[in-house]
Amino acid sequence: MNIPFLDLKNQYQAIKHEINPAIQEILDNASFVLGKSVSNFEAQFAAAHTVKHCICVSSGTDGNHLALWALGVGVGDEVIVPADTFVATAWGATLCGAKPIFVDCDPESYNIDPKKVEAAITPRTKAIVAVHLYGQAADMDGLQKIAKAHNLHLVEDCAQSHLAEYKGKKTGGLGIAASFSFYPGKNLGAYGEGGAVTTNDDRLATTFRMMRDHGTLQKYDHEIFGHNYRMEGIQGAVLGVKLKYLHEWTEQRRRVARRYGELLRGVGDIVLPKEMPYAKHVYHLYVIQTSKRAELQKYLADKGIGTGLHYPIPLHLQKCFASMGHREGDFPVSERLSKQCLSLPMFAELTDQQIEYVTDCIRDFFRLK
Ligand SMILES: *Cc1c(COP(=O)(O)O)cnc(C)c1O
Repeated sequence: MNIPFLDLKNQYQAIKHEINPAIQEILDNASFVLGKSVSNFEAQFAAAHTVKHCICVSSGTDGNHLALWALGVGVGDEVIVPADTFVATAWGATLCGAKPIFVDCDPESYNIDPKKVEAAITPRTKAIVAVHLYGQAADMDGLQKIAKAHNLHLVEDCAQSHLAEYKGKKTGGLGIAASFSFYPGKNLGAYGEGGAVTTNDDRLATTFRMMRDHGTLQKYDHEIFGHNYRMEGIQGAVLGVKLKYLHEWTEQRRRVARRYGELLRGVGDIVLPKEMPYAKHVYHLYVIQTSKRAELQKYLADKGIGTGLHYPIPLHLQKCFASMGHREGDFPVSERLSKQCLSLPMFAELTDQQIEYVTDCIRDFFRLK
């Protein structure tokens, strides 16, 4: 049996009858950049996340940058980010001319550890970026307490956490601002690049709207600095169709995760993902840990099963951040995870039969060990 790590083709076939006319309408109206499809989606996405404003942008990375830029982060400032995340979290700071400061993650939740944040704060610290890694909300109360005490902006990177919850509240409205990604492989994916920033703050929302479109609200009247971070009309149309299914797809992901958990409990030395009591996990990724990662990954590949590594090198050990002088051993939890993590196939359309094939193969692997 062949089971890809991610299958986007199946999903398209199921919704093709709605997607194709939605794209056709954009072509007929020549509404290629922003426009009604994007503004309609912005309103619906904000409502789905119980946040006041959603401003669509050209990617999640651009959202990471825009959020910090609009908050006034600049040269000489420091921004605290987890060591264990996709590199784009750190680009938010670097694109502002600021310095990302890495903090280790919690061994159970894999999210930035509030207990370790305090020690990383200096007089130059301006913001903390919380990533809801793999689709599970970070410990926002713990982070909020520190942010308040030190007068720091708390920003969420929600690239992996569409519809995820923290203590019954959706991510995306838990800090001063948040960024989302609609990269095709994310829980809600466009058919190209896309992202958004969200906020409950009216003034910040206006700044976001201006900055994504050259610092204007009215054409050629450039009130502030900005850039071209506009979303394409086709992406707004695709996302508008797909958003209606997101709740259902999220529940399907949770079903897949539940089934993996039932079938893999106690197998080999596997550590299963843990849903924290405060979180509703949306399983962008289903990540297990094992000391036999490389062997298991190869064994599964030979059986036709695709897997992924999220992430094989923590940010503090990336070449691009070498000038910060970090060494192996600085962030032991992130380092251990980088060596032991393995992401299993995860998408809403996975069938029980496919899940059982994956877990049977994993059981066989550990039986042969
Ligand atoms: C995917 C991702 C991003 C970047 O999103 P793009 O839309 O690909 O630019 C940022 N942060 C995290 C945690 C991500 O997973």
